[in-house]
Amino acid sequence: MKRILLGVFVLGSITAFAQNQNPENAKMKPEMTEFWDPEVAVVTPGENNSNAPADAVILFDGTPESLLQNWTNSKGEAPGWSVADNCVTVVKGTGTINSKASFEDFQLHIEWRSPAVVDPESKSQGRGNSGIFMQERYELQVLDNYNNRTYRNGQAGSFYKQHPPLVNVCKKPGEWQTYDVIYTAPRFKADSTVFSPARATVLQNGVLVQNNVSLFGPTEYIGIPKYKAHGPAPLVLQDHGNPVSYRNIWLRKL
Ligand code: MG
Repeated sequence: MKRILLGVFVLGSITAFAQNQNPENAKMKPEMTEFWDPEVAVVTPGENNSNAPADAVILFDGTPESLLQNWTNSKGEAPGWSVADNCVTVVKGTGTINSKASFEDFQLHIEWRSPAVVDPESKSQGRGNSGIFMQERYELQVLDNYNNRTYRNGQAGSFYKQHPPLVNVCKKPGEWQTYDVIYTAPRFKADSTVFSPARATVLQNGVLVQNNVSLFGPTEYIGIPKYKAHGPAPLVLQDHGNPVSYRNIWLRKL
């Protein structure tokens, strides 16, 4: 009992202390720090956390029409990837698919699946490789790292050759996985130098794998990244020669 009373006393003292931190507060009323306008916008959420909320831009809904309407190949022509069973799959050699729309800051939801049939000869970067490029420059790696080791800053959930994921939360090949990305575009000064680098937070299958990391520049396979000023740019999905599938792609502009 004594201990409980002491606890209440200490807690009460801390609260009182906190309330008196700023002597100016004695002159204030509670409503002076309660802001009503502008009212926070109402958004109807999806049925579950994978379904697009009402204010999302739907980039791919599983239909061939949606792919044609929202994406091109790198030459601006119709994408060469195949659509079946509500998803779009990389067709080797047809190149990237690029969103027609360009984006700056966003919240992205995308689902991906490594090929169910694993070639036992394939390993490291050769197994289920694809990628999601923010603003066509910054690659969030897509790779089958279920029982498949590669360099840590190149595995699924990494910003390729920049930031390894905090954990490996890959599901088995053939199972659907999710990425939810909060992305802040880089800002550039009038002289084209960096004002603030790109930043990103990523959840893979609901687990945090990138915590507000700062990107060093556009993804480079060889060498050191270096920023070059740019504006809004498309989302790009990589053809790395493996039949990786994607579905339910939506984005909220921030
Ligand atoms: Mg890749």
